Amino acid sequence: MRLILLGPPGAGKGTQAQRLVHKHGIVQLSTGEMLRAAVAAGTPVGLKAKDIMASGALVPDEVVVGIIADRIEEPDAKKGFILDGFPRTVPQAEALDELLKKKHLKLDAVVELRVNESALLERVETRVAQMRERGEEVRIDDTPEVLSKRLASYRAQTEPLVHYYSEKRKLITIDGMMTIEQVTVAINRVLSALEAADSAAKAAKKTARKTAKPAAKTAAKTPAKGAKKAVKAKKTVKKAKKAAKKAVKAPARKAKKAAKPAGKAAKGGKKTAVKAKSRTSASKAAKTRKVAKKATKKRAKAVKRLTKRR
Ligand code: ADP
Repeated sequence: MRLILLGPPGAGKGTQAQRLVHKHGIVQLSTGEMLRAAVAAGTPVGLKAKDIMASGALVPDEVVVGIIADRIEEPDAKKGFILDGFPRTVPQAEALDELLKKKHLKLDAVVELRVNESALLERVETRVAQMRERGEEVRIDDTPEVLSKRLASYRAQTEPLVHYYSEKRKLITIDGMMTIEQVTVAINRVLSALEAADSAAKAAKKTARKTAKPAAKTAAKTPAKGAKKAVKAKKTVKKAKKAAKKAVKAPARKAKKAAKPAGKAAKGGKKTAVKAKSRTSASKAAKTRKVAKKATKKRAKAVKRLTKRR
């Protein structure tokens, strides 16, 4: 499963991400955590990000996109991941789309945790107090002044992603004002429905493919059969034509013979042969008639001559 958690600072992204990690066995990729680690380690990225983070502004897109591109390549991200704090701008979201497309990976959902801004300061103050209690180092950007700057960055640069992912039909909005438990239940319910819909779609695709295969096979065979038949038919027609030609030229008996091997399709040839036959007898009759006429004429002349003599 590949998810994005979207929401302002203090919305509860980190808490819910942890729960999703346990439930789905996927990794949480938090750019904030990675940048803080880079700052602590004093890497070139850390040196670049340190002051920007302390001010509550956003680190340049190319820096975080580079970090994420490398991180999702790692083996533990193969099964899936939850992006927490990334993308934070539209160009980052576009870069992520490109990255996933190149890797033929699909983003399952973007979970937006919607909260009242008035509740955020209180939440962050509680978080700071709890961290101090546990003896943990408090983030330098978790002060009321920096928090208002972080909120301003969120509104201006990150909130447009709500529209971006809603257009892509990836957005799931959860009321982040509920208790932690209730938020978890709401996220799980939506994700389960999504998974069920996905497997139903996959099953439908499989069935469609199974049904389409034999149909395609038949379709592929039919034209081949048709082509064979067409060739055969063409040959028969050729034979028939030849036979017909022969029939016109040759005497009737021969024509009949020639028409025979052409089979059924040679019917035309046969017919021609019959016609040829009748044509032959007709011409014979005509000849006979001509001879008879000549004879009649001769006889008439002879009778004339005889009567004249008389
Ligand atoms: P928050 O709890 O306010 O959401 P994070 O721990 O996610 O804060 O990030 C802390 C700081 O790290 C941000 O204020 C910002 O300076 C920097 N940062 C984290 N993720 C990004 C990002 N995707 N793009 C730019 N800057 C980031």
